[in-house]
Amino acid sequence: MTTSLYIVSTPIGNLNDFTFRGIEILNKVDIILCEDTRITSKLLTNNSINKPLVIYNDNNANTVIPKVIKNILNNNRIYALVSDAGTPLISDPGYKLINACIDNNIKYTAIPGPCAAINALVLSGLPSDKFLFIGFFNAKKLEEISDLNNTIIMYESPNRILSTLEYIKNNNKFNNTNIVIIREMTKIFEEVIRGKVDYLIEYFNNNKPRGEFVILISPQVKVLNSNEILNNHLDLINLLMDKISLKDISTIVSKYTKINKNTVYNFIKNLHNV
Ligand code: SAM
Repeated sequence: MTTSLYIVSTPIGNLNDFTFRGIEILNKVDIILCEDTRITSKLLTNNSINKPLVIYNDNNANTVIPKVIKNILNNNRIYALVSDAGTPLISDPGYKLINACIDNNIKYTAIPGPCAAINALVLSGLPSDKFLFIGFFNAKKLEEISDLNNTIIMYESPNRILSTLEYIKNNNKFNNTNIVIIREMTKIFEEVIRGKVDYLIEYFNNNKPRGEFVILISPQVKVLNSNEILNNHLDLINLLMDKISLKDISTIVSKYTKINKNTVYNFIKNLHNV
């Protein structure tokens, strides 16, 4: 079964980031689906590729998809899908097209390449083992995931950066969290700005936001109360209970946990009803 649709990632700024395979595939397909023919034409001209372009986006998907599927099934046409920049489907069109291929048993594949969300995560210095990408900033989406202990990645436009930072400042879950803002990745003015929300608001009040932005929020560091900390040391407390006095246990555990001796004393007293 031949591959009939290639999802091709394109550069997010630096044109040299186009992969050899991406260029090879665009040279081989019959038709390229794209968001904006002017933007994709420039990319193709830059790589001496000359192929027919068809506009594909979320608004015309319902009319374009049936034509694409028919052309693949009846005429063996081979298509590529690109977006204006980066990886299609990531805050860009393509999801419906992939599902139409699945429904029609059409073979497709993806040619990997630049993606702003992943590039920003790599640059941020924030934990990269667990992260959540929520597309463009949306207060409801951010609220839904605010209790999860992950790095949060979101896209934002320059004219909304300050209002989004104000939203974060007013949300007490995030107002003291480390935030990283990355702009213009892979381009001349690439910049990584790190800090708490107050610093970032001041920074962008002094430096007008320009270009393309990704915002990343550090995972929340959960602050444990003294009962929660002492509950984590029950094994030690129970071990000492039979061996030394309550006063001495309180002194040791207090030194160990940096919790006030009286608080420790009362915690153990209640725990053991002594
Ligand atoms: N599909 C693309 C991808 O894989 O990255 C993202 C498309 S989305 C419509 C465009 C948004 O991605 C921009 O508004 C910005 O938030 C982010 N973005 C794209 N290129 C960027 C860059 N070079 N530097 C910073 N952010 C970028």
